[in-house]
Amino acid sequence: MKHLLLASLIFIGCQADPEILMTVNGPVAAEKLGTTLPHEHFLVDFIGADSTGYSRWNKDTVFAKVLPFLMEAKKAGVVTIMECTPAYLGRDPELLRRLSQKSGINIITNTGFYGAIQNKALPEVAFTMSEDQLAGIWINEWNNGIESTGVRPGFIKIAVAGDSVLSPLHEKIVRAAARAHLATGLTINAHTGPEAPAKAEIQILREEGVHPSAFVWTHAQGGSISAHIDLAREGCWISLDNIMRDNIQEYLALLINLKQNNLLNRVLISHDAGWYDVIDPQSVTYRGYTDLFIHLKPALFDKGFTEEEWTLLTVTNPREAYTIRTRRLE
Ligand SMILES: [Zn+2]
Repeated sequence: MKHLLLASLIFIGCQADPEILMTVNGPVAAEKLGTTLPHEHFLVDFIGADSTGYSRWNKDTVFAKVLPFLMEAKKAGVVTIMECTPAYLGRDPELLRRLSQKSGINIITNTGFYGAIQNKALPEVAFTMSEDQLAGIWINEWNNGIESTGVRPGFIKIAVAGDSVLSPLHEKIVRAAARAHLATGLTINAHTGPEAPAKAEIQILREEGVHPSAFVWTHAQGGSISAHIDLAREGCWISLDNIMRDNIQEYLALLINLKQNNLLNRVLISHDAGWYDVIDPQSVTYRGYTDLFIHLKPALFDKGFTEEEWTLLTVTNPREAYTIRTRRLE
């Protein structure tokens, strides 16, 4: 009994210490994360929250489609991928677990609700419930897993649209995310784009007592370079996440700006690529997950970037951004 008590005290005492991230197969130590793509997709269903569901795709077909792209990424050195598709937009934890087990890649999924695309991907409860009730749904997924899969989310994914003033509905979603963050330590990845709504989100987080370092400004390539500097200095993560062969020069300029301002330690880079499109699987060309390594890396090195800076961008920053830890305002 004494030993049991001691063991549990040690466990409780260490709980805040071991740095972990949560994958679809359970926790992974932060130092094991390796090269990480922090914003990708495998499967997306844009039909809308009122019509989507697991019956709309065949898991075996999607599995067969996605797997070769994961193996290709693995060959390029990728160890971990954050699959950023939220609930009601094609999130399928069971499929992700199968893909992770077969490919050997760590896959991280999410909880939260997606308010962009005219609120089409929001379930009815997003409109009727309070901030605390919405946060409660996401906290429950963290505590008990998603549906009956046992898969736990590794971050909170939300999406807002609009300008410097968010709609009451989107403000509610951001407040709910802040409260869920304080309860779980899960980082908030917010599909945002321009800087005006990003600043509005950070202001709401501050009102809720959440530090900007809990916030990933997703699609920050849609904002100005001066906003990148300002928000990175506040601690926010600048997610430059639609990198592909054809736009390397644009991203090079953004990364050089951040480097010149000593802010490379706040930057996340990814492809926002994929994906199996449920609405029309034949019409879409699936984008793979290797342009960063084949095209961006040599272009950065030509501009004087070092191996250490590459490691910062692809290993250290995603690990630091998504390690499960509550980030409160002092
Ligand atoms: Zn995305």
